[in-house]
Amino acid sequence: MDYDKLVKEFGAERFEVMPDELKDLRMAKYIVSHRDFLSISKKPFAIVSGRGPSGKFHLGHLATFMFVKQMQDKYKCRVFIPFSNDEKFLLRGISFEDAQNYAMDNLLDIIALGFDPELTDIIIDLYNLPQDLYNLAIRVSRKITYSTVKALLGFTSETNIGLSFYSAMQVAHILYPTMKYGLPSVVIVAIDQDPFIRLTRDIAEKLGYHKPGALHLGYIPSLQGEQKMSSSSPYSAIFTTDDPETVKKKVMNAFTGGRETLSLQKEKGGNPSICSVYAYLDLFGADTEQIKKDCLAGKRMCGDCKKELITLLNAFLDEHRRKREKSKNLVRKFLK
Ligand code: SF4
Repeated sequence: MDYDKLVKEFGAERFEVMPDELKDLRMAKYIVSHRDFLSISKKPFAIVSGRGPSGKFHLGHLATFMFVKQMQDKYKCRVFIPFSNDEKFLLRGISFEDAQNYAMDNLLDIIALGFDPELTDIIIDLYNLPQDLYNLAIRVSRKITYSTVKALLGFTSETNIGLSFYSAMQVAHILYPTMKYGLPSVVIVAIDQDPFIRLTRDIAEKLGYHKPGALHLGYIPSLQGEQKMSSSSPYSAIFTTDDPETVKKKVMNAFTGGRETLSLQKEKGGNPSICSVYAYLDLFGADTEQIKKDCLAGKRMCGDCKKELITLLNAFLDEHRRKREKSKNLVRKFLK
């Protein structure tokens, strides 16, 4: 994905210097750009970061919500997590039951990360949508014309009418913390979702609300080296429910920045900047500074990294699954 092009096209801003509060977070290097983050974060604000549940939760999804949780810890802020299972039903052709089941399943992965229930609202559109949020969506919908969403989101005359209204729902989710608590929102989102933020920024002031800001994230690479993980490609992502053997198989098949032969690797070193294994070691807490030095100097072989990653991920996922089980008792606290 050409992030420079998107940032320019969307008119977002790059950080000239990464803010102190963000720079020590492991996901900081995935922040591509932002909107008004520096001014909004000077005062209390809320975070909105949604989940479109259309399958099982993988490590890419998890890393994003780990970042959201770290932001909650740093800024002590309210976090709103809308689950757009209505959109997945309307857009992806999945059944109504699956749209519900995926949401209930993914919910456990998010709760397991340790969000503060007093400061976190999880809203599943097809399950616990608050009346005041629906009312806000109706008010928003009167400000959006069909030609706007058609131009912005590429709708055609074949697009179902549910998706048109869903645009208003998405805007309402972003403005909900502002309406309910008077807090400006910072949306943490993949950069290609920015059209919804622009739409919200256009409408916010017409309704008397603060324009939302954003932190745009780039994609965590797939294990196969592509830019984005895919739930439908079994070797490209590790799911939170994968057992240790499956994790091992996937990591052993992962794309690396290693050379064709061991002797070449020793002579010329590898390339961690394109290496999926390195990216995951970094995200999940390995000492990547040392790994990078050794890799570049030809002192480290890809097999060593893969072994280290398998151990790291299996320990992490073992603990995560335990917390995920316990999360079943906490669901009520989050679905208010
Ligand atoms: Fe990647 Fe490690 Fe191989 Fe270097 S040695 S290319 S960091 S797997």
